[in-house]
Amino acid sequence: MNRRDFSKHSLMLGMGVLAGLPKGSRARALNQSMNYYAEPVKKLPVRKFDVVVAGAGTAGVVAALAAARQGAKTALIEVKGYPGGTVTEGGTALHSFYNLWKAFPGVKKRQVVRGIPQEIIDRLLKVGGTSGHAEMSKGYDFDSVCTAIDTEIYKLVTFEMLAEAGVFVCVNTLLAGAIMDGSRVRGVIAESRSGREAFYAKAFVDCTGYGDLAAYAGAEYTEPNDYAVVNSIGVGNVSIDKYYEFLKSHDAIYQQAEGWRSGKDGQIVRIQGRTVKLPAGFREGARKIGMSTVTTTVHDNYFMFIKLNLKMPVSPTNRDEVAKAELELRRRQAKAIELFKEYVPGCEKAFIARTSPKLCIRRGRLIKCDYDISHEDVIEGRHFDDDVMAYGFHDSAPRLQVKDGGTYGIPYKALRVAGVENLLVAGMMITSDHRAHMSTRNTVSCMGQGQATGTAAALCARKNRGTRELRYADLRRALKNGGVYFES
Ligand SMILES: Cc1cc2nc3c(=O)[nH]c(=O)nc-3n(C[C@H](O)[C@H](O)[C@H](O)COP(=O)(O)OP(=O)(O)OC[C@H]3O[C@@H](n4cnc5c(N)ncnc54)[C@H](O)[C@@H]3O)c2cc1C
Repeated sequence: MNRRDFSKHSLMLGMGVLAGLPKGSRARALNQSMNYYAEPVKKLPVRKFDVVVAGAGTAGVVAALAAARQGAKTALIEVKGYPGGTVTEGGTALHSFYNLWKAFPGVKKRQVVRGIPQEIIDRLLKVGGTSGHAEMSKGYDFDSVCTAIDTEIYKLVTFEMLAEAGVFVCVNTLLAGAIMDGSRVRGVIAESRSGREAFYAKAFVDCTGYGDLAAYAGAEYTEPNDYAVVNSIGVGNVSIDKYYEFLKSHDAIYQQAEGWRSGKDGQIVRIQGRTVKLPAGFREGARKIGMSTVTTTVHDNYFMFIKLNLKMPVSPTNRDEVAKAELELRRRQAKAIELFKEYVPGCEKAFIARTSPKLCIRRGRLIKCDYDISHEDVIEGRHFDDDVMAYGFHDSAPRLQVKDGGTYGIPYKALRVAGVENLLVAGMMITSDHRAHMSTRNTVSCMGQGQATGTAAALCARKNRGTRELRYADLRRALKNGGVYFES
């Protein structure tokens, strides 16, 4: 799809009444029945920055911190009221700061993602907001550690870090367009209750997950729709120890990790059950609502999270189909609570303590970049001349693992948007191969990509250069100074 198609597509999505019609007849009906309103031309106030980061999620927080610490005047635009994104809304633990050493006897344990992502964990540790890097005692063919977080503390801690770094944080602000000068992004349009504004900058990083900025900038993209969407629930008034006993009594424990929980070390912070071994009523009920049995926590009486999955028939960029999915997911959440109450001792008075403000996606748009990380790159543990980080986790493990418990490199070229001079992307929107994406999309990978893109954008802005004119040696030096780990 290109920019013109994107705008046309956006208009079509407004036609909820036509949503049920097949594609061809929908387009014909549109041409016949659509009324158009021509927006009057408006003069927008302009704010000027060195770097604009779109989306204050998993990758965007780190990108903005990295850019600001390079001395760039940095703006961060986030539609929700807090930073954090999917790391605070979707998953169970941050995968993974380490290589898969436990699954490969003799392989050296090493922390392969450090820098700003680790700094966030250090800050969380100080305020009881994480389990720490808790070693897996069971299921370590999947990951060697479990790093669980208190998602509310994560939002506060990262917000404070952004303020300390001097980032101009615009929450409750929607990125609604791009201002192009040929193949160069000159600025973005930001919408909030303070009005519609233009933010000019020299370099841009799209961390919206959906690739909104890249799409507005006319980048090529596809919408693979190859994952289920989710609205995970935080479940309160439960006992993690009794859930563990329940799974154990059915000989169903697959994963287990012990770490910091409610201020005490050595406590269970992650468990996952083998569903086939659980009572038929629970198992069948869970299957019908796409519920997974894995949970993590840093509190004795809380599950963070229980995931409810739903496979949508179309891409999650379709507003009207998303509305249907939002309702269905909330129905599934209520059923999930009923299952826990009925089957799991200690959960008789369970309730939904939190939900995500909107459903979470594993990918929306896939943005075309200068390089596409392949399945072989990941599992063969390949590194590149322009590596910006190393990464060793695969969400399909143990079926698919990075060779010999090693790492592969994420190259800088995989983060440069094809055809656009000054736009980088970080997060779930890179990597077309589903199997490779099952690795690159995970939180700690996104955070590392954030540090790489934020640093690169700041260096480009300093010299007023495009992303392809940046000397790799300069980028690598700056990343090393920022604590980023490279395999030697
Ligand atoms: C249900 C689920 C479970 C998962 N489980 C795990 C797990 O256990 N471990 C793991 O490591 N990974 C897990 N993942 C994967 C991982 O969480 C995500 O891939 C990763 O967090 C994505 O980070 P991101 O920065 O690309 O996007 P996000 O973290 O989603 O950040 C995007 C941000 O951009 C904002 N935004 C979007 N559009 C706009 C706009 N137009 N204007 C302004 N702001 C905008 C959003 O509000 C959001 O804050 C899971 C994913 C899902 C969906």
